Order: sequence, then structure tokens, then C-alpha cells
Amino acid sequence: MSIRKSIFKPKELSALLKFKLEARRNEGSLKQLNHTKDESLQYCYDTLNKVSRSFAVVIRELPQGLDDAVCLFYLILRALDSIEDDMDLQNDSKIELLRHFHLKNYEHGWSIEGVGDKEEYRELLANYHIVIEAFSKLDTKYQGIISDICSKMGAGMADFTEKKINAIEDYDLYCHYVAGLVGMGLSEIFAASGLENSSISQHETRSNSMGLFLQKTNIIRDYKEDLDESRIFWPREIWSTYALRLEDFSLEPEKKESLSCLNELVNNALVHATDCLDYLKMLKNDRVFRFCAIPQVMAIATLAEVYNNPKVFTENVKIRKGMAASLILNANSIEDVVVIYKKMAETIRRKIPHNFPNSETTNNLLNQISSYCSLSLQETPEFK
Ligand code: MG
Repeated sequence: MSIRKSIFKPKELSALLKFKLEARRNEGSLKQLNHTKDESLQYCYDTLNKVSRSFAVVIRELPQGLDDAVCLFYLILRALDSIEDDMDLQNDSKIELLRHFHLKNYEHGWSIEGVGDKEEYRELLANYHIVIEAFSKLDTKYQGIISDICSKMGAGMADFTEKKINAIEDYDLYCHYVAGLVGMGLSEIFAASGLENSSISQHETRSNSMGLFLQKTNIIRDYKEDLDESRIFWPREIWSTYALRLEDFSLEPEKKESLSCLNELVNNALVHATDCLDYLKMLKNDRVFRFCAIPQVMAIATLAEVYNNPKVFTENVKIRKGMAASLILNANSIEDVVVIYKKMAETIRRKIPHNFPNSETTNNLLNQISSYCSLSLQETPEFK
């Protein structure tokens, strides 16, 4: 099975939005432009711009110091993901490399040629010794966190190299390895920085849910793209209730079974919504908050777009650029995010089909999200 889905590849940020975000950042922190970085770290930022312009922009939302740790965290996991995604690599060598990749971060001068499914990823791995150099200069508290997450993610990816996503349990586990661990690692980095309460890293379920919510949303939205490239992330346990083959949905997108399957997957993702709000509520630093909140509001808006939408089976459904812009620029506080979640819950509710098998579950989940949001808004004094 080919696996290359990553929460590190946000597709929604258009060039226009990147421009807006950059303009806003430059207004607020001109001094950062004059900040000279160490050569190896500069290489990391340049590479980050090449491998993911969007994520590079979101990282700049972070306070200085934290941005370097998160940049390295990103690049190291990006490199790991590139190994996982390289379908020309023999499984034996891939598994070996995935399991031991975390140790390479301490092996000065290490790099590997010809690995990666895209030129920019191959370049990252071919120049990996520079990433290692920058990593060695990072505060050791961040090194330990990054290495630990890299080791767990590599082991999980190795397990799934020859394993398919059949049971819902497998789906949750795979999403935990490739995305939940990112949430957990970020929480540890935030705690270690002192910018957030040290207790944030103890809320592992919430941190995991932050990653699962994003990853599951991407997996649902990318049905067609993944199918075209023979990648399967939708758990068999769910889709096999509605069709014999996963591709059958693309042949009859309007069929009750196709839409019911899609809606069941959206329900499965919506379960994480209140955990994500609980997580965002714990954040104290405004810039850390925005860094975490932006992907979450994009995810719930995407779920609202894909719910009961037959187009998911035939094309890549995206949220409107105007809406994305407004979400990104307005997710500044927990109150803003709660209002957005409540609004999106109502958007989904209006799309619930009558007499479909999963409609009642959707309705119940939306009731939970809406009541949570209403309660949160009443408890305003508890907000920062
Ligand atoms: Mg991958």
C-alpha cells in the first residue's frame, strides 16, 4: 500500500492567502527580518519554503525560538514521510530505515541519495547532514522530544508498510502514528518552551485528537486523488458496509450507499471536534494559539463542505478561497474558534439527508458540538 498522506501538506492556503499572512507578519515583526540565522538553520528555513510554502508561513506565526524547534521538527518528519512515501524503495530497506531514522539525527554527516517521491524531498534527504547540524545546535530539550516522536512515528510507519487499514482501530492507529504523534510532540515542545503550561503535554488524548481531526479530514477529502494513485486510507470496516470495492463510489457518487459511507466517515472525524476545542482552550500564548487554531478551523470547514457531497467521489473538493481567507485571518481567539465551530455545525446540520442510516448519529454529534460551543460562550470569564 502506498502511503503518503500527511497533515504537513496543507493544500488550502492559496498564494493570495500566503501573501496576506506574510504581509501581516511583516507588519508585526519587522525585526525578525533582520534576525541573522545560523547557516545550517538558514538552510532549513530555505528548504522548508521549498517543501511546504504553506507550512513555512504558518510556522512564522510562532514566537522566536519555538519557530526553530518546530521548523526542525517539521523537516525531520517530512524526511521520514518521504522515506515512507517512496514506492521505489524495497520494503526491507524501507522498514529498516524507518525504524532507525531517529538515530540518524545524531549521526553527523549522514545523508542518503535517491530517496523520496519528489525532487525537493530527494534534495532534503541528500542534504540531510545540514539538517543534522542544525538539529545538533537546537536546545537538547527539543532534541529529545523530536527524536522520541521520530522514533515512534518511524516504528508506526514501518508497521503499516505491509499492513492495510482494515478495522476502524487500524485507521485510528495509523492516524495516530502519522498525525496524532505530531500533536503530542508539539504539546511537549510548547510545554518545554515555557510559553504554555507544562501540563499541556499530559493531555495526550486531546493532543492526539488535534492530529486525528486534521488527518481524517484530509483522508475523507482526498478520496478521488488517492484512488487515482491506488492509495487506500478509508477503513475497510466502514466502506465495505456500503460497497464491494472502494472505487464503486466514484461510479455512483449520488447513490445513497456512497453518501452514507462518506457521512459515516465525517461522523467518525466529528467525534474529535470537542477534544480539539478543549485543547485550544488550554493555550495561553496568542501566537501558539493561531498556529494551532488555523488548521483546525480549516478542517471543520472542509468537513462541512464534504458532508453528503457527491463531488468528493469525482473531484478534489475545496473550501472557497474567500472562506479560507476569512477563517485564517479571523481565528485569533478561542471565542472566534468556538463561533466558527458552531457555525460549521449548523452548516452540516442543514445538509443532513432524511432517512439515511447515519443521519441520526450526525445530528447527535452536532448537538454535542453545538451545546459545547454554547456553554463555552456563556462561560466567557473562563476564557483568557
Ligand atoms: Mg506518508
